[in-house]
Amino acid sequence: MKTIGLIGGMSWESSAVYYRLLNERVGEILGGSHSCQCIMDSVDFDHIERLQHDNKWGELCQIMRDKALKLEKAGAEIILLCTNTMHVCESEMTADLNVPFLHIADATGQVIAYRGFERVGLLGTRFTMEKDFYSKILKEKYKVDVIIPSVEDRDLVHNCIYKELVRGQFLPSSKKEFQRIIRDLQAQGAQGVILGCTEIPMLIQQEDVEIPVFDTTSLHVEAALKSALN
Ligand code: GLU
Repeated sequence: MKTIGLIGGMSWESSAVYYRLLNERVGEILGGSHSCQCIMDSVDFDHIERLQHDNKWGELCQIMRDKALKLEKAGAEIILLCTNTMHVCESEMTADLNVPFLHIADATGQVIAYRGFERVGLLGTRFTMEKDFYSKILKEKYKVDVIIPSVEDRDLVHNCIYKELVRGQFLPSSKKEFQRIIRDLQAQGAQGVILGCTEIPMLIQQEDVEIPVFDTTSLHVEAALKSALN
């Protein structure tokens, strides 16, 4: 088993899910007392969140790059970044890295394409929904078109992520709003919806909506294990 390096803390709520899923799945696949060989470097999210909202992407990418190199030095053989949003830094992060970096949009796009979907909704932070680093990969590598909610609903999703989900609050009222937004995306032709923020799968699960959901946290974990266990 290869050692997986995790850049976590964005937020720790979802990093805890990564850690649990990685260990549970290794146990299921290998049996016995097997668990996942991994190293996590977890940030203080308050600092990251401030830099994001101050548009300091250069500084953020430098931090992500340093974390990836530190994990490689510590023995990680595969790197996972446990957030969709910070994949905006992919090129800076991988420039000097000598071990594979498994992009969360690749893990997601591969499964969507395999299932034959061509048009899906995307929910995530405003950065993930509005910048093109995510939708571009889906379109260019997997021929999948992405639909995003209206400006008002993008604000709602974004604010819910930063004010509730990353702080461990999963409110029934927010769940209802997400269900409504997903129904709207479905009405616009979305065949499925990407839960493109690693905390959203703690609020919305498959049984809550009619169309298939693509849970980026668990898809990322599956891709990592495929590579780690080869
Ligand atoms: N975990 C979230 C994501 O997957 C949001 C937190 C962040 O901004 O990194 O995008």
